[in-house]
Amino acid sequence: MTRISVHFKVVELLIFTFFSQFCSENKAVMQVKWIDIHTHRKWNRPDLLFVRQAWSISLAKPGYFLSNGIHPWQAEKAFFDVNWDSLLQNPQVLFVGESGLDRLKPNLDAQMNAFRWMIDLATRHQKPLLIHNVRMHQEIQRELKSVDCPIILHGFSANQQQLDAWLKFPRVYFSLGMRELQRGLLPIPLNRLFFETDTARNDVQQAYHHFCHHTQIPLEELQKQVIQNFNEITANRLFISYQNH
Ligand SMILES: [Zn+2]
Repeated sequence: MTRISVHFKVVELLIFTFFSQFCSENKAVMQVKWIDIHTHRKWNRPDLLFVRQAWSISLAKPGYFLSNGIHPWQAEKAFFDVNWDSLLQNPQVLFVGESGLDRLKPNLDAQMNAFRWMIDLATRHQKPLLIHNVRMHQEIQRELKSVDCPIILHGFSANQQQLDAWLKFPRVYFSLGMRELQRGLLPIPLNRLFFETDTARNDVQQAYHHFCHHTQIPLEELQKQVIQNFNEITANRLFISYQNH
């Protein structure tokens, strides 16, 4: 092992120790300003909490929060030997997903199988379910009818009628990135709102600013509301609070 890689191992260990203590304590407090609820990237800002999408199935503890599950694009791969329950016991794995249905991809049967499996997992572990939905509003709503865990619709794009149908679900939250925001603003209640970058390169602040600019809602009010929403879906397990300085 070279000196550099030893150095990296030490840093990794420190981050890991911090996170395992942080996560094992019931009442940890983390102060942030921004939340990126769904990203495929790794960000480095002390005032940002992000939940990174894990593509591979891994029990590794990387030092940040993860969302893990079977993506509909991967539904045909065999994940039957993955120990999902022990994966979900990792406190850093905050959400199950992204999972759902995608009309533009083949094999809807396999997608449905994987989706039902992920619904069951999220329900049993009482973790929020992060949804990937491409033109499958009604089919997904049918599956989620009696689900009682929080649901996050990532990259939410819909017409008014579809939004109204979703709003009937008391535990559904809507996550918007710049792509969705630029199509025009939907009347989503603030206590159901999140922002995300997904695969975009620009950070999540841009989405917050865009939203504030078009709604005249003060930035700080929005930031605090999103933090409150986050505490709600994670059942206050992490006690995130607003960073004042
Ligand atoms: Zn994504």
